[in-house]
Amino acid sequence: MSIEDRIRPGDATGIGLEIHRLMGELFPICRSITGDGFRRTLDILRRHIPLDVREVPTGTRVFDWTVPKEWNIRDAYIKDSKGEKIVDFRASNLHVVSYSRPVRAILPLAELKKHLHSLPEHPDWVPYKTTYYKDDWGFCLSHRQFLTLEEGDYDVLIDSTLEDGSLTFGELYLPGETEKEILISAHACHPSLANDNLSGVGLATMLAKHLGTRQHRYSYRFLFIPGTIGAIAWLSLNESRAGRIAAGLVVSGVGDRGEITYKRSRRGLAEIDRAAAHVLGHSGRPYRLLDFHPYGYDERQYCSPGFDLPVGRFSRTPCAEYPEYHTSADNMAFVSAVSLADSFEKIAAILDLIEENRVYQSLNQKCEPQLGKRGLYSSAGANEIALLWVMNLSDGGHSLLDIAERSGLPFAAVREAAEALARAGLLVERPRTSEAGGPL
Ligand SMILES: [Zn+2]
Repeated sequence: MSIEDRIRPGDATGIGLEIHRLMGELFPICRSITGDGFRRTLDILRRHIPLDVREVPTGTRVFDWTVPKEWNIRDAYIKDSKGEKIVDFRASNLHVVSYSRPVRAILPLAELKKHLHSLPEHPDWVPYKTTYYKDDWGFCLSHRQFLTLEEGDYDVLIDSTLEDGSLTFGELYLPGETEKEILISAHACHPSLANDNLSGVGLATMLAKHLGTRQHRYSYRFLFIPGTIGAIAWLSLNESRAGRIAAGLVVSGVGDRGEITYKRSRRGLAEIDRAAAHVLGHSGRPYRLLDFHPYGYDERQYCSPGFDLPVGRFSRTPCAEYPEYHTSADNMAFVSAVSLADSFEKIAAILDLIEENRVYQSLNQKCEPQLGKRGLYSSAGANEIALLWVMNLSDGGHSLLDIAERSGLPFAAVREAAEALARAGLLVERPRTSEAGGPL
């Protein structure tokens, strides 16, 4: 049974359609790591969530990096010797290498070819290329078109600017009962590409909207940042706050039709890693767990040794494993509302688990209390095995997730049993000492 069959229309799929619709609105915008396309993207997100827009000036030192010049582009094309536009930025922003310097030139084919990129193995797709931090320019086109180019002079225009300006990112803080934070981070610097990473941007936006209407114990911080330099800039500007992050997810590539892949934080056994493994392990669907590795998305920065934050990565097919990655084939048809809904549902379940992962102490440490006379064996939907596990392991030290892992029971069954026992006056909640440092 596919995921599409499993989720009934009208329930979780609705959120998938909302995410898909938002992605469709953002898709045409020419984004890069800086510039007006990024700002326009945040403006659209602000119709859904009250994002703060931050600007970090060009030249700002952020650890070993420097915020680059701001890049903007108005137009770009290649015209053949007959004056016909054969490659046009206005048809697709993928045609221009992102961060290309301005160019106005007449070039023979041999010279032009030095600046052309295509994919011989996928002759109908246009690659996505960037030249951040390197002064260069270029165009991308299908290999099929590349092969038709004839000798002659070509009129080349890139009407771009590279000037002092700023790096823009979006930040939303939702205060909870505790200052401990859950971080949700999505890179938002790619132009017309859907799975990488408008899917993450769309999902994180709808998740923030959803959390904004609910009570939560943890505070939540959502970041919509340019990849790499954005995470580095945020960490550099917020070094003193980073210790508050009790759990986090980098959300990327969440709309393709592949199975969910969770990449553990560098710590490996952080609560977020265990919560993700538990939710996916009880989902009844195929999934993969990967150990931390120092390549990938912004988890590289959050999990650098000086921070070592408990931040994992939630994706579907890892980027290196699908050929559409960083090409025009990563389009709106490549992502499915059902996969987006499934990703949303799993992330929400992981966060719910962390929210509900409490520690209790049984008031009957010596022998079991008599449950029958309290009507607990038949009430509250709590199953007997879960009641016995919770009573036995609720010694003030084990969390509900510890009990779920040790018993093999789903977290929800353990939580329901604990709630029934607490209502019957047999358990009391104890402060938990989280690995993120201190009680919540
Ligand atoms: Zn990418």
